Amino acid sequence: VAELELIAAIERRLRARGDRVLRGPGDDAAVVRGGGIAVTSIDTVADGVHFRLSTHSPSDVGHKALGQALSDLAAMGARPGEAYVSLALPSGFGDAEALELVDGLEALAERSGVTVAGGDVVGAGALVVSVTVTGWAEDPAALAYRDGARPGDLVGVSGELGAAGAGLLLLDGLDCALDAGVREELVRRHLRPEPRLELGRALAGAGVSAMIDLSDGVATDAEHLSACSGASLEVRLPDLPLADGVTEVARSARREPYELAAASGDDYELLFTVSPDRREAVEEAASSAGAVLGWIGSVVAGDAAVLLDASGTALALGGFEHR
Ligand SMILES: [Mg+2]
Repeated sequence: VAELELIAAIERRLRARGDRVLRGPGDDAAVVRGGGIAVTSIDTVADGVHFRLSTHSPSDVGHKALGQALSDLAAMGARPGEAYVSLALPSGFGDAEALELVDGLEALAERSGVTVAGGDVVGAGALVVSVTVTGWAEDPAALAYRDGARPGDLVGVSGELGAAGAGLLLLDGLDCALDAGVREELVRRHLRPEPRLELGRALAGAGVSAMIDLSDGVATDAEHLSACSGASLEVRLPDLPLADGVTEVARSARREPYELAAASGDDYELLFTVSPDRREAVEEAASSAGAVLGWIGSVVAGDAAVLLDASGTALALGGFEHR
């Protein structure tokens, strides 16, 4: 009965957006009017693995769970639609905290035009939030996939990298003298990643040949694009655009700034490849979506990603695994 009351309280906090969802939470299943091609992804975050309740508020957890899932739709270039949320709540996590988590998730849903169309609540040993998202496209050819990179393409990335990794080091107690605003922004980037939904649609529309969201870091995610495409993404580490404060944090942690940016996950920027004759169209699409792009490498024959240091020497990927 307590669970039913919590579910009712959660449902009262959710709003429908658009007219696709004919029946949301409250029936046995959601009923949605299909909008063309459905693009579906699921993502799960667990306390102690993907976040820690000691450093993340319940609202941060709700934001992060939906944000990560939506980032996969961004990487496909899909228009976000519905989210389905499973909350596994440990006994120490009260109803007020559960509702705060839902509010954090719903706030991002509102900004993204997403309707939470269903979900469930169960008791569990640890806080686990699982989010399935559905996005929509008119045409499968309008989406971006991981397997389209070809030799001769350019490698691009959106935004600035390393912020989430630096934020995590700061949350872990790293001693580093930083401007308060810079510190706050790095920590925010770790706690509340922003899915690049508008940018992903713009890049897919402008004809990128392959795309992935940076959940694990450039080193690992470039490897995913390389393996799926059967081509080799060569990434010049010194050309990675770094967020403010990343250099200082890396030095304090006795790591190379570019290594930190390439190896740390959770930035949720977009990594893509594009044929050189579409570079201008891609830059225009990005700027109309309010984003800045960095050009960080090129695609060559091969089947594995290669990271180049300042002298053009290839570094082993092995040292760049996501922690
Ligand atoms: Mg992804």
